[in-house]
Amino acid sequence: MRTEVAIIGAGPAGLLLSHLLGREGIESVIIETRSRECVESRSPGGVLESPTVALLHAAGLDERLRADGEEHCGIYLRWPGGREHIDFLGLAGRTVWVYGQAELTRDLRRAREAAGQRFFYRVSATAVHDAHTEHPYVTFQADDGRAVRVDADVIAGCDGPSGPSRAAAPCAVKQTWERGYPFSWLEIVAEAAPSTDHFIYAWHPDGFALHTTGSASRLYLQVDPGTDMADWPDGRIWDALATRLGHGQDGWELVPGPITSKSVVPIRSRVLAPMRYGRLFLAGDAAHVAPPTGAKGLNLAAADVAALAPALTALLRKNDTRLADAYSDTALTRVWRGTHFSWWMTTMLHVTADPFDAQLQLSQLRWVADSAAGAAGLAENYTGLCFHA
Ligand SMILES: Cc1cc2nc3c(=O)[nH]c(=O)nc-3n(C[C@H](O)[C@H](O)[C@H](O)COP(=O)(O)OP(=O)(O)OC[C@H]3O[C@@H](n4cnc5c(N)ncnc54)[C@H](O)[C@@H]3O)c2cc1C
Repeated sequence: MRTEVAIIGAGPAGLLLSHLLGREGIESVIIETRSRECVESRSPGGVLESPTVALLHAAGLDERLRADGEEHCGIYLRWPGGREHIDFLGLAGRTVWVYGQAELTRDLRRAREAAGQRFFYRVSATAVHDAHTEHPYVTFQADDGRAVRVDADVIAGCDGPSGPSRAAAPCAVKQTWERGYPFSWLEIVAEAAPSTDHFIYAWHPDGFALHTTGSASRLYLQVDPGTDMADWPDGRIWDALATRLGHGQDGWELVPGPITSKSVVPIRSRVLAPMRYGRLFLAGDAAHVAPPTGAKGLNLAAADVAALAPALTALLRKNDTRLADAYSDTALTRVWRGTHFSWWMTTMLHVTADPFDAQLQLSQLRWVADSAAGAAGLAENYTGLCFHA
């Protein structure tokens, strides 16, 4: 089989890239290990920055987002004795939208199906070949057992942190920066109406807690890595959330409900450079992972493909290599900004074993709350800087 762009991964990065390319008349094939249902059942987070929403609007993909999503003009920061609303609109003139990743993925997939996109779901043994030549190709085993080879002008590695694209980049040229953190998140999904209008990010001596909103109530607790879920029965989880989020302070109440799922999410930062090797271009979590505290992963994936689509269009339609040559540097500038912001939010809000850290964190929180400049810095980064600025 032949195509112009072989896209590995049907997550947000791969689907959005195929859509932006399709609008330029560029054909692609999407290759995905999981089933469609499985891809669309994953719904972490869902904070979409202002530039991501503008991109979705320009691509004609924001109808359901506008109808079913929530526009948020701020977040709450909370710590014992303190509560501050960071007013995004007043400080940065922008908002964010909360719309589940599963919903967005479904919208993207439906738009691609309507445009006649070729998909292969449930594949195995995906491998990248000859990326350093002008004739790269991808091989895999289709769900009916057939061995398939897709020849392409370009391969887009949108296959997340564990896919084969990252590994296909030659060791001699790639550089990886990583930061591990001594904690994880316990995520719960609950059948309870959200107890807040905006997300609450809470610092507490027992650990960080986050209350999000959206179609499902998702709440998070800082826990030790390797935490055994058996140690966290539902009652203990709600008690910890109530304590850390400040139940009872200023009349605020956390309303518990039945917990429908629990999982432990690892927290890490990773950036891989460059994001291009010959005819292989990486985008999204395949190239970088940020702690979810900054709500940046999907937004960085969107920014990557917003740069990659015009670069591939110029390369494939006009043989103009300038944007493709600049792609890695262009994307990485934004990736490092998002990586720093996510690290900053994470280190400000998660407690460590060192009491000195706790005092620095409280001082930082008070500064963000009391200083217009501090709050504006948070608001500007959280709501998203302009693409490729
Ligand atoms: C708790 C939590 C909250 C978050 N909140 C937010 C938020 O509010 N805002 C935000 O911007 N981001 C958030 N994120 C990050 C966001 O979920 C990811 O950054 C996003 O999924 C990245 O999209 P992607 O398409 O690059 O990668 P993925 O979504 O990982 O998609 C990659 C796809 O490639 C497929 N694949 C893997 N290997 C192969 C292979 N061998 N062959 C073919 N296909 C393969 C995978 O099955 C997958 O479907 C959050 C993450 C977590 C964990």
